[in-house]
Amino acid sequence: MYDDSTVDIIPLDPNKYKKLVFFTGAGMSKESGIPTYRGKGGTWEEYNYKDYACQVAFEKNPNHVLDFHELRRKEAKSCQPHLGHSIISRVEKNHPDVTIVTQNIDGMHQRAGSKNVIELHGSLWRIRCDCSGVREDMGETYESRKCLKCGSWLRPDIIWFEDLLDNNVISKATNIISNSDLFISIGTSAVVYPAAGLPMTAKMNGAHCVEINLEPTNISSLYQDNFLGKAGDILPKLFPV
Ligand code: NAD
Ligand code: ZN
Repeated sequence: MYDDSTVDIIPLDPNKYKKLVFFTGAGMSKESGIPTYRGKGGTWEEYNYKDYACQVAFEKNPNHVLDFHELRRKEAKSCQPHLGHSIISRVEKNHPDVTIVTQNIDGMHQRAGSKNVIELHGSLWRIRCDCSGVREDMGETYESRKCLKCGSWLRPDIIWFEDLLDNNVISKATNIISNSDLFISIGTSAVVYPAAGLPMTAKMNGAHCVEINLEPTNISSLYQDNFLGKAGDILPKLFPV
């Protein structure tokens, strides 16, 4: 376990690896100012998810749920990607096979220039309808709350509490992670399944596994390297220019 304040970090050379995966969680975005869900100051301390982030709540009061998501969009728009996001995007530009697998829904990686991003839990910036599928909606407020074709309420394309992950998305991520040889987990508490099982998939398939987190997690021992500290402090040291 390396403590950022006391130990010099030996940089990783991306070119020594064929397939890199950055696996990110809410801690990555927290450094940009977006609150985590759990823990002190987390969103669910302030709001009860049962009223705002599950299918039942949406069916009961769609406007209420959409108001809440507009608030999240406004919050995300007022935040900026940090140095850690930029480092990941630079590594991706300079290496032929880099994938970002994120549990975050805020689109920060894309705003930092990352292209190859798998969003396990959906996106704040997409809505969907059974009749016409998924489409982007990038404004602070929704372009329309109802489908112009069929009149149904448009649903944020997000995995809410009690939803199952999209099978195609989880299979794609699992497949890429199984074939990766460098797996870097950043800012995730690794308690939300099935996403929390992905580090084990990387490890079992022989990837070199690295964890960056402010504190040890309950799967820290799975990783060959653990770096305690902020993503925005550790990533520039791991991947210097
Ligand atoms: P989590 O809130 O359970 O854990 C966050 C982890 O990040 C903690 O272990 C914490 O120690 C660490 N952390 C905090 N700041 C950090 C920093 N600057 N650098 C490195 N590590 C830091 O988050 P999770 O594991 O991603 O699970 C949360 C669930 O909630 C996910 O399902 C996710 O989809 C969702 N979520 C998304 C967002 C978002 O889109 N930004 C925000 C909150 C929650
Ligand atoms: Zn429709």
